[in-house]
Amino acid sequence: MDGSGLNTTDLAAELRKAQETIRDLEERTKFILDSIHAGIVIIDAETHKIVDANPEALKLMGVSKDRVVDNICHSYICPAEVGSCPITDKGQTVDNSERVLLATDGARIPILKTVVPVKFNGREHLLESFLDITQLKLLQERLELLAATDSLTGILNRRHFIELSEKEMNRAQRSGIPLSMAMIDIDYFKSINDAHGHTIGDLMIKALVGICRDHLRPYDLLGRLGGEEFAITMVDCDLQKAFAVSERLRERVENRIINADGKEIRMKISVGVAELSDAKESFDSLMKRADRALYTAKNLGRNRVERSSLPPSPR
Ligand code: GH3
Ligand code: MG
Ligand code: MG
Repeated sequence: MDGSGLNTTDLAAELRKAQETIRDLEERTKFILDSIHAGIVIIDAETHKIVDANPEALKLMGVSKDRVVDNICHSYICPAEVGSCPITDKGQTVDNSERVLLATDGARIPILKTVVPVKFNGREHLLESFLDITQLKLLQERLELLAATDSLTGILNRRHFIELSEKEMNRAQRSGIPLSMAMIDIDYFKSINDAHGHTIGDLMIKALVGICRDHLRPYDLLGRLGGEEFAITMVDCDLQKAFAVSERLRERVENRIINADGKEIRMKISVGVAELSDAKESFDSLMKRADRALYTAKNLGRNRVERSSLPPSPR
């Protein structure tokens, strides 16, 4: 009998029960770690060496456990975080972030990870869990692309065209390299729709985009502003060059016979061009000047290119 009032037989039974509970807990933990669809890695907080990894983590990294244990975690997870671990270097108590996992075959797998500090066997560790978000990222990229492009033609939509053009304009204003814009509108497009139907009208719009794409340099920006109106931002291009490019484009469009649904159809375009005047001009002002030049081209009989003269510089 000891001080607690238990005899040796009782103590042995209590010990057996405690051992069974521990075994049971260990089995449950192992079952969870083995079956969960999240990678889990335990890292020594001081050395950043991997102490343990569950099967899902090993599957994603493409290694066996004996090859991964004792390796620095950054060889596999978040390589960019060497010396800037959110927990041990920056003092965060938890880190949720999108990072990459380096698989042994060289693949960079996007992951969503959560890291928390934990104490095991009296030593500080990091418990890192992560999910493979490859499919989610692909879906996100597709959605972003859909949101940025025009569904009929696949070129930039109005919003995205303006966004990218403004960036190019800022770059041009900083470097002093000229930048021009061409605004395009199909002539008498209503008549094409009326004569051949809306579906053929759509095919003509696509054909025009094809001609523009073939004609432009890869770094020019082509956008559909709406309906049968398009705009081109020409980088490293002054008014004279932009006029020449637009004139050649107009000619190409005029001379092209388009086979749309078995019918041979032609179309014509009017174009207004403007060159960014100085470092102070806004993109909105540049677009307005190109639009006014287009309006002039329409008024002067269509199937022509008109230039916007530079606005008078402020005194
Ligand atoms: P203008 O020479 O003055 O430009 O004459 P227009 O007939 O081309 O001018 P307007 O802008 O008045 O008409 C454009 C027409 O374009 C009206 C609309 O029915 C048609 N349209 C706009 N978007 C689409 C489209 O996505 N597909 C088709 N097929 N037609 C469209
Ligand atoms: Mg038109
Ligand atoms: Mg129009």
